[in-house]
Amino acid sequence: MKISNFLQSLLFSAIALLLVSSCGSVENSGSQGSSTSQFAVVVHGGAGYIKNLPPEVEKRYEEGLQNALNRAYAVLEQGGSAVAAVEAAIRYMEDDSIFNAGRGSVLTNKGGVEMDASIMDGKTLNAGAVARVKHIKNPISAARLVMDSCRHVFLVGDGAEEFALEYGLQLMPEEYFILEKRKKQLKRIHSKQASLQKDWDVLRKYGTVGCVAMDKNGNLAAGTSTGGMMNKRYGRVGDSPIIGAGTYADNQTCAVSATGTGENFIRTAAAFRVSALMQYLNKPLDEALRLSIEKMESTGGDGGFIGIDKNGHISWYFNTEGMFRGYKTSSGEQKIEMYHPDYYKK
Ligand code: ASP
Repeated sequence: MKISNFLQSLLFSAIALLLVSSCGSVENSGSQGSSTSQFAVVVHGGAGYIKNLPPEVEKRYEEGLQNALNRAYAVLEQGGSAVAAVEAAIRYMEDDSIFNAGRGSVLTNKGGVEMDASIMDGKTLNAGAVARVKHIKNPISAARLVMDSCRHVFLVGDGAEEFALEYGLQLMPEEYFILEKRKKQLKRIHSKQASLQKDWDVLRKYGTVGCVAMDKNGNLAAGTSTGGMMNKRYGRVGDSPIIGAGTYADNQTCAVSATGTGENFIRTAAAFRVSALMQYLNKPLDEALRLSIEKMESTGGDGGFIGIDKNGHISWYFNTEGMFRGYKTSSGEQKIEMYHPDYYKK
């Protein structure tokens, strides 16, 4: 009797151990945490079919992510706000044409650029967003301007551009944003010649950029900026400028920025869902990210999140082959990664 009790409890412990470790490996397969720090910044440069990239491409992305992290980190180190850090990182990535935001944005089916961006302050729940802008050099700064200086949250098209101009933001001719490589990619797509080998970065990659940060005062902020999806129907707006879909920040929970099939992030209120899972169901950030991505995935989409919680815990989660991502913290930790450790889509 005693022996069978013992065996039974041994069996239970073995099962419990198995369950715990398989949960652990699920977490590790898509997300990455770090220890708590005084201030920290996390960036992403899009998710999707990111697999076995040529070394020179890897290097370009690494440099881009590192420079963006350094910009934001410098702001935080000098005591700047999380909002200012997020803006600094994203401005850098908008100017770096390797990313699909600002210069280098993907093109609409009509061959133009229509850029979207948003930013949110976790301390006040203030937010600003712009969509369908075609000339603003740094859409993230326009989003910040809307947040700081406008009684509205979301401005689109000409109205957003006029507003930006009134406040002295830099506008550029459309040619500045439209790169030759993008024109070629669109042509190949329209002539149905595009292949995953040659056009991996437009067919299955979403190169949106995003940043989340916590400053020395413990305030959180999030921002996202994008050219959208290649060959999108002109007039289409994705999740990136939509507060609660692609961007969300609340000091009570977390700050998150998304990348992926925007329509699915909108339909599942994906960014707000992360915060709600934490606030109302007490889920930790890692789990909240995973649950939100799973919900989004159940509607047929793919992509990922970066996030930071109110204690400075960093996490990310994505269901694609890769996501350009990295973080840097005041405790001296930093990391830049691209590939999924063990996930490959069929
Ligand atoms: N989420 C973006 C959009 O749908 C695309 C991306 O993340 O690259 O516009």
